[in-house]
Amino acid sequence: MGYWKEIVEGGWSLVEGMRVTVRRLWRPVVTVQYPRKQLNLSPAYRGHIELRLFADTGTHKCIACGACQRACPSHVIRVQGIKPHMKSPKKATHYFIDFSRCSLCGLCVETCPTQTLQYSREYELEGDSRWSSVVDLIARQEQSRS
Ligand code: SF4
Ligand code: SF4
Repeated sequence: MGYWKEIVEGGWSLVEGMRVTVRRLWRPVVTVQYPRKQLNLSPAYRGHIELRLFADTGTHKCIACGACQRACPSHVIRVQGIKPHMKSPKKATHYFIDFSRCSLCGLCVETCPTQTLQYSREYELEGDSRWSSVVDLIARQEQSRS
């Protein structure tokens, strides 16, 4: 009896599976042949954080205040800056971040008083060692501008 029951259940499971497959055949394809085709990102997509490039200055507006560094729950940001002149505002010279430990919580973006941080649209971040995930965002921005 158990033998016949297993055959019937197996047959029914096959029919159910085929029913789902046939139904899906007529629906629009939602997968992408990556990497031959690129993804259409949602406007709400959040990539890793980056420095915004302001049109009026042609660069970022980071004043090395350290607010993002203090707000980061993962402690992955280190900002260094200088004061070029006595009365001039501080300017960031290095903005190090370890992407391997960033949780993309967005607290740094929310905290920044100069709105110089934003989410990138990048989704192909990769590296060949743990240290390659430590990036100086200021150097990276300068490289992309040159
Ligand atoms: S997104 Fe969150 S975890 Fe990542 S650097 Fe900003 S504050 Fe830190
Ligand atoms: S990115 Fe914004 S919050 Fe962080 S140090 Fe620069 S100005 Fe301050």
